[in-house]
Parts: sequence; structure tokens; C-alpha cells
Amino acid sequence: MELKKPSPPVTFMIRPRVLKRYCPFDKKHTPHEVERVKKRKASELKWGQRRFRRVTAGYRGFPRPKPEGREKPTRRVYIRYRCQECKKAHHSPNIRAKKFELKEVH
Ligand SMILES: [Zn+2]
Repeated sequence: MELKKPSPPVTFMIRPRVLKRYCPFDKKHTPHEVERVKKRKASELKWGQRRFRRVTAGYRGFPRPKPEGREKPTRRVYIRYRCQECKKAHHSPNIRAKKFELKEVH
């Protein structure tokens, strides 16, 4: 896969709830619903979680040091675009933003 240059951070990002985008499944532009990807609880059966349980078991605690230095001014915003015609979802490169908002456009 080709690596894309990360886009510069946006301080405030507003996205309409529905916007027209290219659907790679229909191979044409269709209206897409914009969803924000939420963080889910890690499954206890997933590899990373199993390793975490193994590493934290017994003596010695957390496997990673606490991050040092200042807090980052922006956060990565994960957005999912769902095609309203075929109901399939796809992503675009993630953007860093201070604040993210979905706006209703009529
Ligand atoms: Zn589609």
C-alpha cells in the first residue's frame, strides 16, 4: 500500500452528517453518512489483550512507561463513511483535530 503524507492538524473540524463521496464498491459518487468511530472495549480473546494479561500477571505491573512531556494539542479523529446505496463503510486517512463536530445540513 502506498503511504500518504499526513495532513496538517486542523484545530476545528465540522463535517456534514451526509456528504457525497466516491464509493469504491459502487465505483461512483453516492451520498455517504459520516460516522465517528468509537473506541470499543478490548475483547479478552484478542491477541493484544491476551498479551497484556500475561505481561501484567504476577509481579511487576504495567508493561509500558507513562508518557512524559506535554499533552498533545490535537487528537486523531476516526471517521467512517457509510454509503447509503450499498450500506458498506470505508475510511479515509485520519485527520488530527482539536475538536470535531457533525453538523446537520438541510
Ligand atoms: Zn456504495
